[in-house]
Amino acid sequence: MKNNLQRENGRWGQRVLMPEQDHHLRCRNFDEVNLGLSEEAAIAEARRCLQCKSAPCIAGCPVAVDIPAFIAAVAGTRMAEAARILLADNTLPAICGRVCPQEEQCEGLCVLDRKGQAIAVGYLERFVADWALRHPEQLAPTVIPKASGKKVAVVGSGPAGLTVAGELARMGHEVIIYEALHDTGGVLRYGIPEFRLPKEIVDIEVARLAQLGVCIECNVVVGKTITLPKMRNEHDAVFIANGSGLPTMLNIPGENLKGVFSANEYLTRVNLMGAWRQDHATPIPRSRQVVVIGGGNTAMDAVRTARRLGAARAVILYRRSEAEMPARIEEIKHAKEEGVEFVMLTAPLEILGDNQGWVNGLRCQAMRLGEPDTSGRRRPVPVEGKVFELEAQVVVNAVGTGANPLLTATAPELGLNRWGNIEVDTTGQTNLAGVFAGGDIVRGGATVILAMGDGKRAAGAIDTYLQRCKGRPLM
Ligand code: FAD
Ligand code: SF4
Ligand code: SF4
Repeated sequence: MKNNLQRENGRWGQRVLMPEQDHHLRCRNFDEVNLGLSEEAAIAEARRCLQCKSAPCIAGCPVAVDIPAFIAAVAGTRMAEAARILLADNTLPAICGRVCPQEEQCEGLCVLDRKGQAIAVGYLERFVADWALRHPEQLAPTVIPKASGKKVAVVGSGPAGLTVAGELARMGHEVIIYEALHDTGGVLRYGIPEFRLPKEIVDIEVARLAQLGVCIECNVVVGKTITLPKMRNEHDAVFIANGSGLPTMLNIPGENLKGVFSANEYLTRVNLMGAWRQDHATPIPRSRQVVVIGGGNTAMDAVRTARRLGAARAVILYRRSEAEMPARIEEIKHAKEEGVEFVMLTAPLEILGDNQGWVNGLRCQAMRLGEPDTSGRRRPVPVEGKVFELEAQVVVNAVGTGANPLLTATAPELGLNRWGNIEVDTTGQTNLAGVFAGGDIVRGGATVILAMGDGKRAAGAIDTYLQRCKGRPLM
């Protein structure tokens, strides 16, 4: 079978477009924006793939999905086979197909990217994963492996914790996840909004783990409810994946005014606590003018949420230019279509309030770009004398997050770097025997798939460790 129709036609073919909810409608609802490919469109896109022997795209995927193989199965309309190939490498494909920054990963290394027409690996992954969710009967039944007799504790049920748990359960180990919140998924649930990642998808992916026998205990704050030394006593190994959810403060006057939120709090109220639903008790201010400070994915999620909550003017305030924004290109495009205003090269100097202690604006400093800093991005420099005010009833701080010290404060023996992130070797092993770590608590704020890659790698190392160790480590 020739798997490249466009090549037959002497062309490389146009990359498929993702159908979207109309932007006039979607900025007033929380339904998913991207609607998914039809089967016909997915097959046509799959047939553009050149099936490169060296498959450079795979090197761009932190969990090494066999991209050409699953795409070949889609091209040949063998969807169950495509799902089997995908699930062998990726425990959360319906999530990755939606939120991976593919343009920097698998698609960024696709040979067709040079022609601006990279294969839409993410869209195809989402198509296959959603197909698998609709056709569970066509997938091989879950095989529960023979029990190894070893017990592993996982701290946190974000993508790193879910991945390590799934991999270890498939190896026959007993796994228990301890989660601080009342629900699972970490940022997938409380951070990324419904309109980008429906929570039903997270529920289904988590349920798959339960089928493998993984036990999840919510409302357990490791460091408070239970300490790391106790966990080490009661389990053969521990994997720490508690993320990096501590907001970085702006350290400017007015930060304590009413109506100022960290992005994590703002999004958690909406996504986890259901504040976007009219019938819900969790309060969230529905204000006319909302300013979100920051230029990453979190800032885009917060500002697009503000639009959906009714803000007539929802503004992104960023101290560099759009070219330096770390948010995904698709998120920036969607935000603009939804009427979000971008105020670039501007830094907040002070959050202004009324005599009741409520926010009513921001005093801002205009910036210009100077020489590149250590991150390689051009450093923002104040433009002397150019200060102005912006009106706002809600201000959301989305400039970043750091490691939460709740767990590590009760485990002073655990090796940390100067930012409080856990230090590990290339396999995820910490300085403590039998204790491994991965995801944002190691990397700082990163991505879903990098966290999953850490979980997958650590699972292999934990398995090797468990096979070697005869009893629980002496502490
Ligand atoms: P988390 O997802 O943070 O999970 C950690 C879990 O540990 C949480 O459930 C937390 O409640 C729990 N926990 C914390 N402390 C304790 C404790 N003491 N005891 C027990 N449990 C604890 N990445 C992308 O790839 N694409 C995107 O589009 C994207 N959008 C994002 C949008 C937002 C708003 C945010 C905040 C991040 C986004 N990211 C995105 C980044 C990505 O979500 C993270 O890199 C990823 O979730 C990290 O996974 P993790 O498992 O390390 O941690
Ligand atoms: Fe690409 Fe992410 Fe899928 Fe890997 S998991 S192939 S990086 S979309
Ligand atoms: Fe297909 Fe692109 Fe990978 Fe080649 S690099 S196999 S064209 S996805």
